[in-house]
Amino acid sequence: MTKSPVYFVARKEGKFEQSFKYKLEKIIGQLGLKEEIREGGRVAVKVHFGQEGNTTFIRPLYVRLLVDQLKKMGAKPFVCDTTGVGFKTTRSNKIDALNLAYMHGFNPLTLSCPVVIADGPVGLSGVEVRVNGLLKKAKVAEDIFYSDYIISLAHFKGHPRTGFGGALKNIGLGAVDKETKARIHLKENPRVKREKCNGCMKCLQMCPVKAISMEEGKARINSEKCAWGCGCWEVCPEAISQWMEMHDTNNNLTVKMIDSFSAVYSAKGKENFSFINILHNITPHCDCSPFSDKPVTADIGIMASKDPLSLDLCSLDIVNAELREKENTNFLQKVFEKDYLREFLAQGKPNPEIIEKYGEEKGIGNKEYELIELQL
Ligand code: SF4
Ligand code: SF4
Repeated sequence: MTKSPVYFVARKEGKFEQSFKYKLEKIIGQLGLKEEIREGGRVAVKVHFGQEGNTTFIRPLYVRLLVDQLKKMGAKPFVCDTTGVGFKTTRSNKIDALNLAYMHGFNPLTLSCPVVIADGPVGLSGVEVRVNGLLKKAKVAEDIFYSDYIISLAHFKGHPRTGFGGALKNIGLGAVDKETKARIHLKENPRVKREKCNGCMKCLQMCPVKAISMEEGKARINSEKCAWGCGCWEVCPEAISQWMEMHDTNNNLTVKMIDSFSAVYSAKGKENFSFINILHNITPHCDCSPFSDKPVTADIGIMASKDPLSLDLCSLDIVNAELREKENTNFLQKVFEKDYLREFLAQGKPNPEIIEKYGEEKGIGNKEYELIELQL
């Protein structure tokens, strides 16, 4: 079987010509972006803008350098992320998510292009794509769906559910709307515990799709109408099932993340994607975390590929090799030795083999890769 090329530029720098700008230029040349992106093409650069409190998301400067290069090619880039699940968090709607993005340095002045929350005002604007998996449908965030080309610029780091997060997570969980995110995380939609409901109607007032009605003085959620992810459980911890009660197993979540990725991939066409992983600040937790722990290893470098599965597996292997050599441990061990992540193990230890096997089965990519180190 042919191996997918994964390009790598190591973190070390000793002169201006080895700085991030030139590394990125080199990587972009290998990916063939100039040949693939048509003049005037609208290019979605998908990044994670970081949860409030997090400080280790991708540096806006890296994004700007990519935007500058895309503009030189004649493209029209925009930088985007999507809303987070819920109602009360600072990423749960477009206005709050944009304010937070601006605070984190992702704004039109720093990036010199539009900054977009791609799934609309409350995170429910997406285009539905059917998928034949554990997940039955995914809604691709509207602005990403209608772009001409997508570049995943992902921060590679640990993740409490899937073990690690890179390109697959950036698109499978990050390029879809709030409902799809919730369906990936959860096994069921929220329900009202009738005996605990006092009929205050607060949930009715906040539900954006009018899925809640009153029956004999108690709230009732219509499962057919419910969009799963809009956060009524945050408004009523007493009478509405809570996030951790609804949560699916780690393995199912991983499978559904890949289902969702394959939906986005098939909707846009593989040929319209490129993937770059930044292996800097490799924290145990993901960028949705409201804090940033110490990285598990020193910065490693930039990796890129046309094959997202190869890219993520290669990124994981290189982190593991670094940890094995220096500390005789591996990434997942290192991630789950953290006290604050141990509760997630209750739903099964994340298994990267699922990503490898199921990713290939779904046609996302190749688990066999060839690592090509580029010198500057
Ligand atoms: S479910 Fe909660 S918020 Fe909704 S009406 Fe009942 S008590 Fe009020
Ligand atoms: S009932 Fe469903 S759609 Fe309405 S707020 Fe709750 S999760 Fe969202």
